[in-house]
Amino acid sequence: RRRWEPMDDRTCLVTGASRGIGRAIAEELGSRGARVVVNYRSAERKAAETVEAVEAAGGEAIPVQADVTDADAVDAMAERVHGAFGPVDALVNNAGITRDRKLADMDRSDWEAVIDVNLTGAFTTTKAFFADLKAAEEGRLINISSVIGQQGNYGQSNYAAAKSGLFGFTRSLAKEFAPHGSTANCVAPGYTRTEMVEAVREDIKARIRKDIPLDRFAEVEEVAAVVAFLASEDASYVTGEVIDVNGAMDL
Ligand code: NDP
Repeated sequence: RRRWEPMDDRTCLVTGASRGIGRAIAEELGSRGARVVVNYRSAERKAAETVEAVEAAGGEAIPVQADVTDADAVDAMAERVHGAFGPVDALVNNAGITRDRKLADMDRSDWEAVIDVNLTGAFTTTKAFFADLKAAEEGRLINISSVIGQQGNYGQSNYAAAKSGLFGFTRSLAKEFAPHGSTANCVAPGYTRTEMVEAVREDIKARIRKDIPLDRFAEVEEVAAVVAFLASEDASYVTGEVIDVNGAMDL
């Protein structure tokens, strides 16, 4: 048996793939030969860099702009994707934002902005590609949650609520997809070395690292490898799961 099933007959869409974890996921899928749709909200130049990286890794890619909070834009994205690559086999809901404030200072707009992108965005995008994923041979839905969805975090009640919401969403869809042979899973990364985390003050980063037995943050490639496994046909009997990628931070 081959070590990895090649993915050259698979079309994968990654939301929020212009940078960070999303870009690494796109590249990893590309390196396995997949056709990758690189979704982004506004960073057109960065999305073009991701497309180049996917192609350099051995895959095919197109950039498609769409704000996942805009259902019409997501439907238009689906039309573009179908025209370019046909139906999608794997959808990775990765687009996410934070608006950190302790509850006393959090207003409704901070709450709604985070729920809209991280949770409702996943609903909207999944809905637009639901028929594809159901009909696909071995369709795959992967939602990028967070260790914060499991543990909660001071000043992140909106983000934690959205990220734990993805757990129930994913488990329900695992049941809806199962009769069709498709799967749905969550990946819950811990602190991962992206621009967002690198910008945190050194002393605060040192304090966070104390809670991580592996004593370092994850590299984006370490998250991407797990997502690519779940997106592949190798993961055919894994569904409704939350896969932690957090250096034992939750132990
Ligand atoms: P970044 O902030 O580096 O990248 C976010 C990506 O999401 C960008 O491509 C951005 O596009 C896109 N995006 C944001 N809002 C929208 C929207 N409304 N519609 C479409 N795309 C959008 O994030 P990370 O790479 O750090 O995080 C990726 C995911 O992983 C998120 O869901 C995050 O919550 C999760 N995560 C991250 C961790 C970390 O430590 N970094 C830990 C655990 C989970 P554009 O550039 O065009 O704005």
